[in-house]
Formats: sequence, structure tokens, C-alpha cells
Amino acid sequence: MTATTPGLVCAHHHLYSSLARGMPAPPETPTTFRGILEQVWWRLDAALDLEMIEWSAKLGALEALESGTTGIVDHHESPNAIEGSLEVIVAACAEVGVRVLPAYGVTDRHGADGARRGLEESRRFLSAGGRGLVGIHAAFTCSDETLHAAADLAGEFHVGVHVHVAEGPEDADAPDRLDGLTRPDWLLAHCVHLPNDHGLAGTILHNPRSNLNNAVGYADPARFANPVALGTDGIGGNVLESFRLAYVMHRAADVTATPDTAWSWLEEGWTLMPECLADRVTWSYEPMDPWHIAFTSGIRPLQIEVDGEAVLRDGVPTRADAAEIRAKAREQAARLHARL
Ligand SMILES: [Zn+2]
Repeated sequence: MTATTPGLVCAHHHLYSSLARGMPAPPETPTTFRGILEQVWWRLDAALDLEMIEWSAKLGALEALESGTTGIVDHHESPNAIEGSLEVIVAACAEVGVRVLPAYGVTDRHGADGARRGLEESRRFLSAGGRGLVGIHAAFTCSDETLHAAADLAGEFHVGVHVHVAEGPEDADAPDRLDGLTRPDWLLAHCVHLPNDHGLAGTILHNPRSNLNNAVGYADPARFANPVALGTDGIGGNVLESFRLAYVMHRAADVTATPDTAWSWLEEGWTLMPECLADRVTWSYEPMDPWHIAFTSGIRPLQIEVDGEAVLRDGVPTRADAAEIRAKAREQAARLHARL
């Protein structure tokens, strides 16, 4: 191996959470996973408008690019700014020079009308020729009707479904709720509380830092027969960092584990976004070998080519003005935090 790899893929991201950093503390300190969702993320996503989504996505795409990630599988929710949100995210990523595979995460948390509008956003985006997936927040926040409607919509457009599965104990009955719906092109995020013999088809998306941060437990993805890919769950776009954490958590559970397994999970991202295989990232470290990377923090990209165009040169983005994105994102973060 040399100092060059294809563009990395973040297989589970939430670009809308880029502005969450520095948000006001929740009214009550959450003590459960459901509490974290209710007190933090479901207040944040409800406060988003399209302008915040645009700059949040640009900041997230910029940070991904600066980490050598050229492909983002995004899962988006903004219940008070649904219409047009997927196009805003796609345009924001294109401006920075990062590829994105978006999905709108449908949910019944805001009533049946909210679920219907979420599905309509997916239909509008896919009908217009947009490349994306159908999204479901999670089985435990959706009715059976919504789960079936999302699966049907994905079948109609021959795309997969991107869904959170058994991230916390609240969603432990996900295998029953999704029984008969999943297919190999579905993306199943987290699966921490999923039994080994779950019977679901699809790629499991492992997000080690997020699982640690939410204290939901260790997913132990090596136990599944399904393919496994690595994401960040919205905590930046640095997939090398996800790899390092995935390796060391695997190692903590099994001292015979090697970095090759976690590296195979990182490589699985190229099955989801194969176009990133044609991108070239030149790194600050050589060799880019799993055993080296696992024990070397701070590796950064020096040069990135996407579709033959240099989108990062000497560590600096060429298309987007990084300072302007950070400044505008700070303004939008202030607006967002004021609403909370
Ligand atoms: Zn997630």
C-alpha cells in the first residue's frame, strides 16, 4: 500500500447535526436513550429551517472532505422544513465537491400527516431523478402503515431503505416490526440491541463513537452474517476515526481481533457508493495499511481528486471557501440555538 486510497465513504451521517455543537443544555439531563432523543435531537431537528439545513450540510460536507471522505450516506429529518430539504442537502454537498446519497427519515412522531409529507419528499426527490434512498427514522416511531408505505416506495423506485434499527432497548422489537420488509439493499443503522438471528436483510451500519456517547452498548457487528459498513452518526465525517474506534472496541471485546476486520467494514462503504472508488486521496501518512492506521491518529488528506478534479489541494478545499462556510455556519448555529 502507498499513501493513496480511494475516497472514503461515511455510511451513516446526519448532516443536519453539524450545527448542534454548542447548543444549550437540555431542560432535563437525559438518563435513557429515549431521553437523549427527546431532550436533544428531536428538539434540534424540529427547530431547523432550510437555511440552517443548507449551512449545516455545507459544514458537514467540508469536514468530511477535510477527513478524506468523498461519499456521505445521509439520513435527514427536519419535521418543520420537509419540502425541498433533500435538494438543499444535495446542492450543498455538490458545492463543496462531496458525493451524497440522501434519505428523508419518515416518522409518525408528528402525526400521520408528518409521515405522509416525509414520504412525499422522498417521492418528489426520486421522481425528479435524484439519487437517494427512502428513509425511515426507526420502527418504534412509525406505524405499520408507514413502514409498509416506505418499503413500497423504495420498491417502486428500486432503491434501498435507510433506517435506524435497535439502537437502544426502546427499539428491540424492530426485527418483528420489519419482518418481511427488508431486502439486501436496505441499510440498518446501529443494530446494538439486535439478536444474532434477527432475520433482517441489509447492510449493518456501525457507529462506534455515537454508540459510546449514547451509552447504548456495544453492537459487536462481527457477530452478524450481514455486511457491515462504518458511519459517524452525525459526529463529523472522519471515517478513519470510526475505523480506529471500531477496531479498538472490537479488540476490547475480543483480544484476538485484528484491524483487518474493521478495515473490511470501512471498505464495505464502497459497495454502497462505488463511484468513490474512482476518487483519489493522497494522505499525510504512508503506508495506508490497516495495522498502521489503527495506531496512528491525526492522518489527514493532502490532495483529493473527485471525478478527476482536485477538490482539495495542499489540504485546502478548492471549490468552497472554508472560512466563509465556517462563518456562515456559526451564524446559522446562533439562530438555531436561540430557537432552543
Ligand atoms: Zn443515526
